[in-house]
Amino acid sequence: MTKTNKMTGISLKSHSLGEFDRIITFFTREHGLVRAVAKGIKKGNSRWSGRLDTLFCSQLTLAKGRNLDVILHADTLYAFPRLRLDLERLTHGLYLLELILVFSAEDDPHSNDLFDLLIATLQALEEFTPVSLLILWFELRLLYQLGYTPQLEACLYCNLVYDSASPGVRHFDTIGGGYVCTSCSSQARQPVKLPQLCIELWQQLMWRSLGDLVGMSPAAPTVTVAQNVLRNYIVQTAEQGLKSLTTLKAIQTAAS
Ligand SMILES: [Zn+2]
Repeated sequence: MTKTNKMTGISLKSHSLGEFDRIITFFTREHGLVRAVAKGIKKGNSRWSGRLDTLFCSQLTLAKGRNLDVILHADTLYAFPRLRLDLERLTHGLYLLELILVFSAEDDPHSNDLFDLLIATLQALEEFTPVSLLILWFELRLLYQLGYTPQLEACLYCNLVYDSASPGVRHFDTIGGGYVCTSCSSQARQPVKLPQLCIELWQQLMWRSLGDLVGMSPAAPTVTVAQNVLRNYIVQTAEQGLKSLTTLKAIQTAAS
């Protein structure tokens, strides 16, 4: 008898397998990254007909295969239709998927918090404004859940406690992942200037729930700088570039 396994997963990406099949990479609540074959998906009359496209979240039943599992059933839970109507929101959604793909692992039984964070953020992304604030919140929550929270309480190098009342330029070391005081900035590995308003925005967002974002209205330039610095840190931590960030920049440049 074929062994089957049920799980909830969102499709992150797929690639072709032979003439009719595709291998789909899911991020699942129960097992982290899971790869499985969708048989016959490339046939014109396929029973899958778009239901396993990227960003579709489904209740899955997989059959254990010798090398790869095979998808037996997929019942759509969320399709995020409004994301697909807005190129910028869709690209942000794909950026979240790429972050998950880069930072999560296969056979990870502790992926439920990250899965819930992803689904809740994608649901909010369908209508939340400003999008950049929501994405910055996700980036900070992701880093927290992965154990890469930026260290802001004290200087990475000399432990001098961060003092919001003291004047002066603040730096953030995007390799070390923390605040660097003015005296230590010359020895930091990759220091970038980070305005105090941006540090305070990070601090506010780190511990807020999604519902608490409603009503926040930080200045757009503060969000932009805070996001750019954090993304440099994310790319350093990921040890690779992120394709969706390049696409996002192109879309935002074209729109400005
Ligand atoms: Zn220092």
